[in-house]
Amino acid sequence: MSVRVRFAPSPTGQVHIGNIRAAIFNWLFARHHGGKFLLRIEDTDRERSTPEAVQGVLDAMAWLGLSTDEAPVYQSSMRAAHVAAAEDLVRRGAAYREDKGGTGKGEAILFRMPAEDVEFQDDVKGQLKKAAKDVKDFVIVRSDGSPVFHLGNVVDDIQMGVTHVIRGDDHVENTFRHVALYRALGATVPKFAHLPMIVNAQGKPYSKRDGAAYVGDFREKGFLPEALFNYLALLGWSPGDEREVLTVDEMVAAFTLERVHPSPAQVDQAKLMWMNGEHLRRRPLGERVAGCKADLQANGIWRDGMDEAYLARVVDAMAERVKLYTDMSVQAGFFFNDDFAYDPKLVEKRLRKPVDMEAGLGALHAAWAALPEFSEAALEESLKALAVARGANPAEFIHASRVAVSGMGVGPGLYVMLVVLGRERVLARLGRAKNLCARTDAAAPGSAGGNG
Ligand code: GLU
Repeated sequence: MSVRVRFAPSPTGQVHIGNIRAAIFNWLFARHHGGKFLLRIEDTDRERSTPEAVQGVLDAMAWLGLSTDEAPVYQSSMRAAHVAAAEDLVRRGAAYREDKGGTGKGEAILFRMPAEDVEFQDDVKGQLKKAAKDVKDFVIVRSDGSPVFHLGNVVDDIQMGVTHVIRGDDHVENTFRHVALYRALGATVPKFAHLPMIVNAQGKPYSKRDGAAYVGDFREKGFLPEALFNYLALLGWSPGDEREVLTVDEMVAAFTLERVHPSPAQVDQAKLMWMNGEHLRRRPLGERVAGCKADLQANGIWRDGMDEAYLARVVDAMAERVKLYTDMSVQAGFFFNDDFAYDPKLVEKRLRKPVDMEAGLGALHAAWAALPEFSEAALEESLKALAVARGANPAEFIHASRVAVSGMGVGPGLYVMLVVLGRERVLARLGRAKNLCARTDAAAPGSAGGNG
């Protein structure tokens, strides 16, 4: 049997990560089995389905690389088939007409639930069963002639030859009705796999109140599609080994429904951020340089004519720290702007107390001006020797020189940073910072304004 699966979103708003996660799982399943991945737009809710929302689905899928194998099916165009199926069920006694509530508005068509219990095997949740008395007859065509979700969903899946229905947990209850409909329509019941709910830290369904929830939010914040894809694939699935950062090909190779977990999957934004950094680092340097440059430009830090080779060295030095391109302007502005601001708290802590670093920075300035080679090893050796000679802990000199050249307390490795900045900049900055040490007034130069 060749696999045919589909993503069947109702385009009524922005694309929630829970919805696109279903698309990702279907896509991975289809690619793993060499089957077909289809798209059905469930746009029968005329008031809520909008062309913009449809476009939103298509854009999100294109961005994440969720390629389809056939033209999308618009459910609204299938209405005649839905109604015909309902009439066929009426003819065969599996459905009946009723003036629901006796309103005189016309007759609805109701599906007659069979007398037997309904059972199906869910590939994630196991064998599921519902007693006959717990599933009542239900409307399949409203009195205004419009088919109901259950009917359209099942008739379309039959029509599209869907072999596996992989969708969110919220549809489990519907599936008991759907299974009965398949049987009544004389169709093969597909396999079902219901994906675990995506929840927040409190175990409640994850919504936009919990943070970014729509694909577009993540895209706007600068997340990479491969990182969001990877992260969402792990919400409910694991490759069965220790790997967490995977390429699409690796996920395709490893994807099976057996490794989809039934328990709810918790969103962890910090982990997604980490994963984005991992994927970012896997992109070629040239591409990262372009991404970082765009962010620096957008923030007025990069100006035309600046040194591109220097930028590439900065990007490389920042590789471990940059998780989003937008981190660049926040964390690396000082590389490009000599007039960066010093964090006043750090000036106090690292340059003034408990030790006054004025003389120390002066000594570093002299030593580093005289170094035959401005290399990481030479800088480290000289800093340590100098600290020891002055009876100080080298850590004090390490912290002080970091603050002196960057204004910040965190950043790339100190010696890498110094080499990238280059001797001239470093010496100038040590000289400037030296003037901050003794001063206790708040108006120290550079303590307000500027970038960095
Ligand atoms: N339109 C439904 C949804 O978005 C379809 C569910 C399905 O069968 O995949 O939840």
